[in-house]
Amino acid sequence: MSKSFQYYDNWRNEVVECPKCGWKGRVQDGTQRDFQELFDYCCPSCVGNVILAMVSYPTVQQIEQAAKDGNAEAIRGLPEIACSESRNQRFEREKLRSANQLPDLDGGNRFDVLLDTVEHSGDPDDESWNFIKVGDRVIWKELAFWEGYRRYPELSELLQRKYGSRFKQLKASYKAEEYLRGDINNLPFKIYPDDESMKFRTSSRAHR
Ligand SMILES: [Zn+2]
Repeated sequence: MSKSFQYYDNWRNEVVECPKCGWKGRVQDGTQRDFQELFDYCCPSCVGNVILAMVSYPTVQQIEQAAKDGNAEAIRGLPEIACSESRNQRFEREKLRSANQLPDLDGGNRFDVLLDTVEHSGDPDDESWNFIKVGDRVIWKELAFWEGYRRYPELSELLQRKYGSRFKQLKASYKAEEYLRGDINNLPFKIYPDDESMKFRTSSRAHR
């Protein structure tokens, strides 16, 4: 039986035993695997993944509580929470909400729309942006989020509403797809790659 821990439990030095091979050791000596909402530790001596312990990532409330209780790691995490919360709020204020916010485009031809992501350089004042382009023209720009894949169908729908049958498809640049997906392998919908990044994709993702 694997043990479950909350992030701020004292799990690192907890001793666990592998039910399969009998390995005994501290949780932190196991083999770590990361998932979206938790990470786990598997037996380091078994082939295959025999899970010994699972640890949930803390919620914002848990981080704030732990910081109040004097947990040094939680205290260090507080500025980042404040920052990401205000970034979420900013996104909600600034994002494309209505098809009416998109510009009218001349001509009757059908077109693809490109979603491209420009990642921040690491400068704290710098941001990651999603650019929505038709040809060379930027028709919208909004904050981009790592693993922000839910935004892709939302944007497609807004584009569809604005441009109707003239809108063919929202295609993602390599960077945009990487950013939308993050570490998530199976999305509930398909992301269409743009032509330019197709070659790069097939060569670099052949192992997937
Ligand atoms: Zn084992």
